[in-house]
Parts: sequence; structure tokens; C-alpha cells
Amino acid sequence: MSQKGTVLIVEDQEGFRNVYEDVLVSDGYSVILAVDGEEGWELARTKKPNLILLDLGLPKLDGFEVLRLIRETDATKDIPVIIFSVMGEQKDIKKALEMGANDYTVKGFYTPRQILSKIKGLVTQLDVKGPVVSYKLQVKEDKLDAVKLREEVGLPKGYLCPDCKVELVLEMFPDYVRQGGHWYSSRLSCPNCAKAF
Ligand code: CA
Repeated sequence: MSQKGTVLIVEDQEGFRNVYEDVLVSDGYSVILAVDGEEGWELARTKKPNLILLDLGLPKLDGFEVLRLIRETDATKDIPVIIFSVMGEQKDIKKALEMGANDYTVKGFYTPRQILSKIKGLVTQLDVKGPVVSYKLQVKEDKLDAVKLREEVGLPKGYLCPDCKVELVLEMFPDYVRQGGHWYSSRLSCPNCAKAF
């Protein structure tokens, strides 16, 4: 496994598979590929990737079935899943998010780079060994925000873990409850002891 983690791409169209594989590999991820839903489920179960990019329209088992199996099975239920959807199929997106997909992309609408940033946001939540992407506190640049954040989260000055004396990192999670835009909820955590604040 690469230091950044392994991403499983389940997609029956070769062109899409290649584009996403290229962008992920060039950014340092390991990639495994499945060309239909059955193979996708098999690889999800046996390889336990750090993240799954899942097409909905797939031969053998469709993406909804694969997602259901992933979420119903203990070994795979916590793996982040980003679905590929087709432009205009809002009900598919809604259904997949209700079934436990973490995020979605619209085919041909999001650039591979935008998808990569979604992937980074989700893989950060995982316990991947190595130089994972973490959101260092940017509020150090802005004193007002820093004061506000410190008051809200009740952190001691300097944003250090009280136990480990290590600088805390800000983790961000997509928030689907709020409508109208792309919202994230966040929390502070210690990269050493993993305690959240
Ligand atoms: Ca397809």
C-alpha cells in the first residue's frame, strides 16, 4: 500500500477509469480497478481500500447494490464511498447519500483535480500511516478568527494538545444536512494521541 492509501475505482467505462486512475496515481495513491459491480464488491471486501469511487450504472451488480453490501458488512461499512452520478440524476444522488455514500461527483462535470480534493478530504479521516493530508490551523493567520475559534473550542493558547503538547490539526467532514453549498463540519484533534476536541 502506498503511504497515502489505496483507492478502489469501480467503473465500467474505460475512459473514466483511466482518467481517475492517472490523477490518483500521480498524486501518490495506490489504485485498484474493478470493471463491474461484482468485481467491485469482491475487491472492496478482500482488499479493504481506504476509499471507493463507485459508479452507479454498472453491469452485474449496480452501484446501489454494491453500496448496500459495503454498508451492511462489518469489514467494509466504514470505508468512505464517493459515487459517480450522471448529470441531472438528483434522485440517484439523494438515494446514494441516504444509503451511506459520503460524497458524490457528477460525471464530466467535476474535473479530476476537484475529485482529488474530495478524496483528500475523506482519506484524511482515516488512520492512514504516513504523510496524510491534514488541515493545519489556518486561523493562526487571522487573529480574530483564532480568538473566536479558541473561545468556541476552549483550547489552551497555542492550539497544543494538553497531554502531548503537539500542535492540533483541524479535521473537516462533509456535512450533507445543510443545504445550499458545500459545507463542512470540523473538529480539532491531536495527531499524536488522536483525542478530539
Ligand atoms: Ca457506468
